Amino acid sequence: MSQAVSNSNNTTPARRNASSRYGDDTDSAIDAQAALVMRKGFLDDVIDGIQLGLLVIVGISVVFIGIFANSLPTIFPATKPFYDAIVSIPGFIMNVPEHAALAMLYFPRSVDELFFLASDLRFWLGEQMHTLPYKECVLVFSWATYLWEAKLDIRQRDRLHEVRRPAAIAPFISRQAYLEANAYGLDKSSLGLVKNVFMQIQTTVIIIYDLTPWLWTIVGDAMDEYLGYGPEYEITRSIAYFLAATYVSTFLSLPFDLYSTFVVEKKHGFNKQTFGLYVSDMVKSLALTALLGGPILAAFLWVIDRTGSQFYLYAWGLMAAVQLLAILIYPTFIQPLFNKFDPLPEGELRNAIEALASRLNFPLKKLYVVDGSKRSSHSNAYVFGFFRSKRIVIYDTLINQCTTEEIVAIVGHELGHWKNNHILRMLTAVQLQTFIVFFAFSCFVGERAMYESFGMHTMPTLVGFIFFQFLYQPLDSLLTFAMNVLSRVHEFDADAFSKKLGYGEQLASGLIKLQIENKSVMNPDPLYSAYHFSHPPLVERLNAINDPNVAPKSN
Ligand code: ZN
Repeated sequence: MSQAVSNSNNTTPARRNASSRYGDDTDSAIDAQAALVMRKGFLDDVIDGIQLGLLVIVGISVVFIGIFANSLPTIFPATKPFYDAIVSIPGFIMNVPEHAALAMLYFPRSVDELFFLASDLRFWLGEQMHTLPYKECVLVFSWATYLWEAKLDIRQRDRLHEVRRPAAIAPFISRQAYLEANAYGLDKSSLGLVKNVFMQIQTTVIIIYDLTPWLWTIVGDAMDEYLGYGPEYEITRSIAYFLAATYVSTFLSLPFDLYSTFVVEKKHGFNKQTFGLYVSDMVKSLALTALLGGPILAAFLWVIDRTGSQFYLYAWGLMAAVQLLAILIYPTFIQPLFNKFDPLPEGELRNAIEALASRLNFPLKKLYVVDGSKRSSHSNAYVFGFFRSKRIVIYDTLINQCTTEEIVAIVGHELGHWKNNHILRMLTAVQLQTFIVFFAFSCFVGERAMYESFGMHTMPTLVGFIFFQFLYQPLDSLLTFAMNVLSRVHEFDADAFSKKLGYGEQLASGLIKLQIENKSVMNPDPLYSAYHFSHPPLVERLNAINDPNVAPKSN
């Protein structure tokens, strides 16, 4: 009896203590925040309206197609290739036995026959490429990608309106932190939705009204008039075009960028940037685009012009060299233009990191702290450098937010990326991606039908590449998704590495702190995070760290 009383006396304060730590108290400020997160505003009404509208349009279209199916290509010529493809499906299925017999007959039985088949296939593909309705295909691809991503954004937005924490994160994320992260996520989502609509309309206008050839002509005319350079100066004209297009698009997205930095980031306590710093950053990066982008572009165009039909191999090699150079000069020459790198001062943290580095035989050359707090309170740490000369960089914000043990655990995670060759693996994957881009481009660069479809009557390489990029967009989305999957595998791997070093607990608490401090999405939509995130959601990472079967500690 006395035990029961003393128990109940002990649990009450303990529970009260726990509930205030986990934020289950009914604080009025938190309730106000919850009401704000839950509230559906103008944008949500627009989204609901559009979704309802789309549903109606799909319904009407089904009826419309049912009635007018046969005359659809005459009413909307753009639908003809899709109509033809769909109409041919039943015939194809009916003839499967015949096709199978033909396939058996032509099935290559020797290497020679295989080569014949390959050249036939190339010839057939070439024929298709001459007749492809490029502009229509690109418009369909672009809108399909846009609608898919908008659907994901809306699914994610529904998650952000949630005010109840999922059971999996309730024990370590307070209600207040959860609501703050969702409020930040909602503001970013609103800006993103508006920006994406604007960008999609911009792309559509550029494609429909042939604005690429239009700008190309303007640049050419200006060069002719003011410099006396004729159309034979294709590389100079390409650089001028590239700079004009970059500056125009920077200018068009400027309102969104300003709003993001000085309204959204500021409202949620992240922006530390003054307007002066913002302007000087922008001037610096536009100047760098001209100083570095111009010559690099010139080198590519020159190589493509000189190396003929197998230019993709040379362009690929050049790209690898540029990337290698970028990795080499970016931290030493470019980054210091924007940030200050100081050696980490002597002390507990420096000793702990140096001890870890020597325990792992990590060739630590320099250990820096960077003034990330100058722009934003978002925090980070990373490792870079070649061979025997590695550097570790820690954001000053990370030092302010985490304990020494937590920072060491996070550095342990970063060293896991190094030890398990993730950086090299990612670099190889990027090379593969670049090769695919250049090889595919080499198939289209000489395709007059593509240029003419977009309203261009000459065939400059750079303009061809811009058209090709429109065409390549769906494949690019798929490859980006694949890269995200690979990156998430690496993140789990690096977490396991840090855990194996004995930092599992500190890593978990460090990750939770970073998640709260950065107000990262706590409960993302599974489809959204699978498609967009290069890092796994917090809950999945914590589950893996706490799983006794994952990387048990060893010495
Ligand atoms: Zn990582």
